[in-house]
Amino acid sequence: MFDLNKITRENISALKPYSSARSEYKGDAKIWLDANENPFESGLNRYPDPLQLDLKKVISDIKNVPVKNIFIGNGSDEAIDLLFRAFCEPSASKAFIFTPTYGMYAVSAAINNIELVSISLKEDFELPDLQTITPIIKKNTGLLFICSPNNPTGNSYTHQQIEAISSTFSGIVVVDEAYIDFSEQVSAVSILAKHPNVVIIQTLSKAYGLAGARIGMAFANPDIIAILNKIKPPYNINTLSIKAALETLKKTTQYEAQKIALLAEKSRFKTAIEESPLVEHIYPSDANFLLIKFKNAGTIYHLLLNEGIVVRDRTKEIENCLRITIGTKEENNQLINLLIQ
Ligand SMILES: *Cc1c(COP(=O)(O)O)cnc(C)c1O
Repeated sequence: MFDLNKITRENISALKPYSSARSEYKGDAKIWLDANENPFESGLNRYPDPLQLDLKKVISDIKNVPVKNIFIGNGSDEAIDLLFRAFCEPSASKAFIFTPTYGMYAVSAAINNIELVSISLKEDFELPDLQTITPIIKKNTGLLFICSPNNPTGNSYTHQQIEAISSTFSGIVVVDEAYIDFSEQVSAVSILAKHPNVVIIQTLSKAYGLAGARIGMAFANPDIIAILNKIKPPYNINTLSIKAALETLKKTTQYEAQKIALLAEKSRFKTAIEESPLVEHIYPSDANFLLIKFKNAGTIYHLLLNEGIVVRDRTKEIENCLRITIGTKEENNQLINLLIQ
């Protein structure tokens, strides 16, 4: 049923990629005179490894995904954009999203001139039943996004739900796990072996604290990875970011401690403001943020702004809702004081 050749854009299948100096010679040479670099050592005078092998090995160990199944992008946003460019034909293909969800899917779709089909999540932000989804997505290829845990709603979907949709859709199913490190649910990487059309996206931007380094990952079958590698800019991840990622990924104790602290803060923050007369509802969250329904979100948004506190206004997507990231204890305390007065 799933045929990668059939769903890859013809021009991409036919593309002969740019072959960089560094990708043609892989050994350990004595003298590098192949890339017109400046020979005076500064730590940055050489082009970075186009395939980021050192970083992939570390990520492979941490995430339990073989190196051949890993693509690294300049943020997961790059992976999302490349997936559009590889698997959606401009002004012909469609992309499917479950709303409300992460805004970049719609932006990437628009940039690539792809029709976006929004399927509403249920009232409790659960996925609609398969009987509802199937007639909309079947007979289509292109991309289908499942964000789990979902941004901005905070809830996750089960592997069973993701697998059922992946078996129904003939295009690529992108499972965005930007917040999986905070979740009690384990990553869906285990379904990759069974579902060759699934791409799992993760990032170092959230739990790993490297939003500024722009490192995103896509995990998928090696044929999909090969296509992403073929169309990415040759040196998409810079030397400084690779270094920062390698150093951060070594600090496993710090990573675990920060994660535990943020999850504890999430629960403390929730308990502290739950009974506030300003708060209508706090949605369950598997991520490092809370989606909160206020009696009057607009007023709260501006009250916080006046105190120099910026939260995310989601009232256009979800009535009276703000998405609030969990900060440090001190930051959260300032918010609590303003919300429980
Ligand atoms: C934050 C976030 C990302 C991460 O994007 P990067 O480009 O890796 O920083 C991806 N998906 C979702 C849903 C997010 O909220």
